[in-house]
Amino acid sequence: MNTALTIAGFDPSGGAGLQQDLKVFHAFGVYGLSAAAALTAQNSSGVTAVKAVDGNFLRKQLEVLLSDIVPDATKVGMLLTAANVRVVARIFRKYRLKNIVLDPVIVSSSGRMLAEKGVPELIRGEIFPYCAVITPNIHEASVLSGVAVTTDADMAKAAIILKGFGPRQVIITGGHRSGSAVDMVYDGTFSYLKGKRAAGEYHGTGCAFSSAVTALLGKGLDVQDAALNAKRFMGRSFRKSFSTGKGLRLFSI
Ligand code: PLP
Repeated sequence: MNTALTIAGFDPSGGAGLQQDLKVFHAFGVYGLSAAAALTAQNSSGVTAVKAVDGNFLRKQLEVLLSDIVPDATKVGMLLTAANVRVVARIFRKYRLKNIVLDPVIVSSSGRMLAEKGVPELIRGEIFPYCAVITPNIHEASVLSGVAVTTDADMAKAAIILKGFGPRQVIITGGHRSGSAVDMVYDGTFSYLKGKRAAGEYHGTGCAFSSAVTALLGKGLDVQDAALNAKRFMGRSFRKSFSTGKGLRLFSI
């Protein structure tokens, strides 16, 4: 059985972060491993508090796990602190992990910061170079590239800048754009993932897409095929989503 690791934040609602990632891995028949970098207090309406896991303790989780099991793919989500970014970069060097996917989590849909000041830039410098692919949405791509992304041309410009920091591929997801919901894939040439815009607001969309890509890389697909299949999986997930809380819709994966 293939294995995938997620290094991310804890979400009590199960709609994002570690719990969501594990459900997605399971849906693809991949065994899920997880290490907690942060805790959040949140429900379907938003995040009310965040707390970092101490960097030393994140290191201990990863060391004991990786000395036993080497995952076929690894996803990085919410890290929150500079200490956690440095720990993860050191772990990537030490264990030479492959098929690394980064969802550069910066801010929740409800506006709560999920990365401390200076952390996005540190992630760009320390984590990007190890990544097979990074999956920012247009807001994250804007912060990380310095290009305010609204048009197709902005998206392309941001992708070129982001690839310059070292990831082998960049996928800028288009779900937050007002017009088309097309995702842009850039590996030196551009390609596009088309999908119908889903009506409504959803919790954990970025987490679900990036963990689907991770599971599929772990199963041996290349990034292009993984992204295409992850996009189809998202289409199915939007159709199967449901509303149980007072806020955003949740995926019933
Ligand atoms: N909570 C955690 C732990 C996350 O990792 C993320 C995003 O990746 C979020 C919340 C944000 O989810 P949303 O954009 O649905 O607010």
